[in-house]
This record gives sequence, structure tokens and C-alpha cells, in this order.
Amino acid sequence: MIPSPGERAAQTPEDSVAPDLGADPGRTYRLGIMGGTFDPIHNGHLVTAQQASDDLNLDLVLFMPAGSPAFKQDRDVSGPEDRFAMTLLATADNPLFMASRLEIDREGITYTVDTLEELRKRCPENVELYFITGADAIIDIISWHRAERIAEIATLVGATRPGYDLAWAKAAIEGSGIPFDVRYLEVPALAISSSYLRDRTHSGQSIRYLTKDSVIGYIQKRGLYRGARA
Ligand code: ATP
Ligand code: MG
Repeated sequence: MIPSPGERAAQTPEDSVAPDLGADPGRTYRLGIMGGTFDPIHNGHLVTAQQASDDLNLDLVLFMPAGSPAFKQDRDVSGPEDRFAMTLLATADNPLFMASRLEIDREGITYTVDTLEELRKRCPENVELYFITGADAIIDIISWHRAERIAEIATLVGATRPGYDLAWAKAAIEGSGIPFDVRYLEVPALAISSSYLRDRTHSGQSIRYLTKDSVIGYIQKRGLYRGARA
């Protein structure tokens, strides 16, 4: 059973994985995982996850803010608790979405393969894993830590993202020799990024309609993205 938004706000690290997913042994469940820095989460992330749920019949999408992102060592990333709080706020009203603490509660650099291994261990066999990424991230996938193992554990979902060429990503993945199972998705184009929201906030411009009002309120309350740029 998928918990109600009220129950979800009180989630603990243990039950934030996917409570009861897989409970009926007579059917297969599909668990989506949307990884990211989410600094901050925005409507591009939300639209992509919704589209993946609709097209692939996912039972739940876990939004997984990265603890110490492997690819973002070059700038100051907001603290994990702030990024998790914004993720929780943005996902709380959608019964298909859930924020997960799995990566932020892990020490050290975040590797996707470790997250997928952990989910594979915790979920029953009748739960299939779908790892959702935008076109930019999927291009990098072949160079990710233990990419062969990722291909064994999860189906990849590559979503279009304005400014990134999915055809090139397809060719690179096919040429990699790693047997990835990839589903490609057309999502309504939202040419926005967390960097864009940070820049606008920094220069005092509105980010209204680019992310949820609850996230905007949180950014204001905590004074995020106002200081000197890294
Ligand atoms: P930043 O500008 O800080 O890199 P971002 O907007 O790319 O932020 P991330 O947290 O890096 O956000 O991305 C998480 C995932 O969401 C990645 O797989 C990324 O490709 C995807 N994504 C981000 N923005 C969009 C968008 N507008 N449309 C589709 N996918 C997106
Ligand atoms: Mg990015």
C-alpha cells in the first residue's frame, strides 16, 4: 500500500525505501527512482517523473536527493537536509511520489550503483527497478561507477531534456557494449534547471511557476542561493 501524504511526512530512513511495495506475490511492481542533487527540485524533475510513471506504469517514484554527489564536487551544494526538505515538500501531494533519505543518510560519495544494490536487497523480487534520468545524465551513464552492474539491476529510463541530444545518447549507449535496457521518453519540454533557479534567486528574480510554491517559500525562509556563487 502506498502511504498517504500525511504518513509520508513522518517517514523514517527505514520506511522511506518503498513500504509494502511488492506485497502481493501474484503481481509485478514497478519502482521508479529519480536521482538528482535537487538543489532545488523544480518542475522539470516533477514532469519527468510523472511522465515516466504514466508511460511505464510505475507504482511509485522515489525521489532520491544525493548525499555527496559524485559529479558535483566542484561547487557548494546546499546541505542534504535542505535538499531533502524541498524534495519532500515538492512530492508530498502526489500519491505516486515519495522522497527518500536513502542516499543522504549514507556516508561518503554517492554512487548510483550502491543505491540500486541497496534497493534490490530491500525490495522483494517482484519489484522491478526503473532508474529515471534526463538526457544529459544518461549520456554520462556509460562512464558511471560499475555501469555493468547498473545494467543488470535496473531498467534505465532516458527522458528528453531541451538542449541535450537523446539520439547521441542512444548511439553512445549502444556503442558501449554494456547491455543496458533503456526506455526513451518524450517529456513536455521544460528548459529549466536547478542552476537557472539558483541564478535567478541569487539575482533577486522570481522563480514562481518554475517550481512549487512550497519550495519557493522554503528557499525564502532559509535564505538559500542568496550568497556568493561557488
Ligand atoms: P543543475 O543545474 O544543478 O545540474 P539539474 O536541473 O540538472 O540541476 P539535477 O538534480 O542535476 O538537476 O538533475 C536530476 C535529474 O533530473 C537528472 O537526471 C537530470 O537530467 C534530470 N533533469 C533535470 N532537469 C530536467 C528537465 N528540465 N527536463 C528533464 N530532465 C531533467
Ligand atoms: Mg544537472
